[in-house]
Amino acid sequence: MKKQHIAIIGAGTAGLALARILAHQQHEITIIEKATVMENVGAGILLQPAGLAVFEHLGVLDEALKLGCRVNGLEGRLASGHLLVNSHYREVAPQCFGLGMHRASLCHVLMQNLQQPNNDRQMIHWHMGTEIHHVIPFGQCMQLIGQTINEQAFKQTFDAVIVANGARSQLRPKQWVKLDKPYPWGAAWCIVPACTTLDSNILHQFYDSASTMMGILPTGAVPQQADQPLSSVFWSMPTPHISGWLKDNANRDYWLKLVEQRWPIAAEWLSQVVVSHEQWLPAHYRDVVLSRYGEGRLGIIGDAAHAMSPQLGQGVNMALLDACALGRAIAQADEWSKVWDNYHQQRLSSIRFYQWLSRTLTPFYQSHRRDLGWLRDAGFSWMYRIPWLRKQMAHTIAGIKHHPLQDMSLEEISMSLVDQQPVNSDLKSLQ
Ligand SMILES: Cc1cc2nc3c(=O)[nH]c(=O)nc-3n(C[C@H](O)[C@H](O)[C@H](O)COP(=O)(O)OP(=O)(O)OC[C@H]3O[C@@H](n4cnc5c(N)ncnc54)[C@H](O)[C@@H]3O)c2cc1C
Repeated sequence: MKKQHIAIIGAGTAGLALARILAHQQHEITIIEKATVMENVGAGILLQPAGLAVFEHLGVLDEALKLGCRVNGLEGRLASGHLLVNSHYREVAPQCFGLGMHRASLCHVLMQNLQQPNNDRQMIHWHMGTEIHHVIPFGQCMQLIGQTINEQAFKQTFDAVIVANGARSQLRPKQWVKLDKPYPWGAAWCIVPACTTLDSNILHQFYDSASTMMGILPTGAVPQQADQPLSSVFWSMPTPHISGWLKDNANRDYWLKLVEQRWPIAAEWLSQVVVSHEQWLPAHYRDVVLSRYGEGRLGIIGDAAHAMSPQLGQGVNMALLDACALGRAIAQADEWSKVWDNYHQQRLSSIRFYQWLSRTLTPFYQSHRRDLGWLRDAGFSWMYRIPWLRKQMAHTIAGIKHHPLQDMSLEEISMSLVDQQPVNSDLKSLQ
């Protein structure tokens, strides 16, 4: 497509990755972000192997590896000590791994890469501290209307607009929204110095029935303190309980007792690192389903397009795959009307599969349903004994499923990127 001026709303994973890809295709990019600076907000997130293939293509993998922590797999234990979930990336390929990263580090490596001086980056304009309120068609273009942090009006017209402003987006066209609702359960989370008593390259989870769940994710470091590895601790609870729980300092001791009765090794470590209740912050999840992700000169990617529960750890991964697929669709089309058929063909089936599975699995981990807890324990114990099913589970977590019976290979992801000219010419294989 000939050079376009494209606005990207939101400088999260999806927006930053897309900006990198489209600037490389010589389009002019304007990034509009409501935060004034990228702060150390958020907890740890898990980059799956498919997302790492995208990072490699973007030329940010080496930086990400310096700040992140290699994750070899997911292990979930019951209160009895039984290892219920035992999923390792080596089931996908021998050298395959995930990367636990602080959200701030992830945005930092993408942002740093975008701001390095060279020809591509001169095509990028930044509007930090600017919140967009409306996206409206304007002749053959799209117009954005918003406000800066200093209460100045923002009004600008672009050839096309990509909305990448996260799960709570209010910019989705109403007629595309099939579902937009909060999950009934969320989590309290905190960031602490890395856990050394449990395997530090594993995402550890702990379950007791469907109503008790804790996660400990290796999180790597933040750029300002690159020598201090961190872990993120997640404690699941119904959303209406979260704010009350966070306010009450007495809850720390009660919580530690609950953990100690079930998982004493984890409790011993937690009693040393979770010293104040003020360390905890809330996490709320949404379920957003759209009938389509783009039409004409408007598109939606990342959480804004398909927010889901974090059960399968796919948020960042899917945002990166969206950015790649859209970059590829734009590179191959000569007009906007052709972009979306190509994009839907690449992404629709995979997004639908992950959303369906995430929604189906969530009550087995986050609900008061005793029967579902029991079914999960019985079903998973059985499933992990069957090599084919164990492999399918590892492939699902790795983020490479097109649909239940079809996978993308990591090479295929790299190939699709090679087709659109790699941003980083030194493309290595992660496998
Ligand atoms: C503050 C924050 C903390 C998070 N913490 C975690 C975490 O701890 N663990 C985890 O797994 N996931 C977390 N996430 C979600 C995770 O980042 C996403 O699932 C994933 O990275 C996909 O990102 P995205 O780019 O689609 O959306 P996001 O990462 O949500 O980025 C959207 C961006 O759009 C900006 N924005 C929103 N509305 C507007 C507007 N109207 N105008 C301009 N800009 C706007 C936001 O400030 C944000 O920077 C967090 C998201 C945010 C915004």
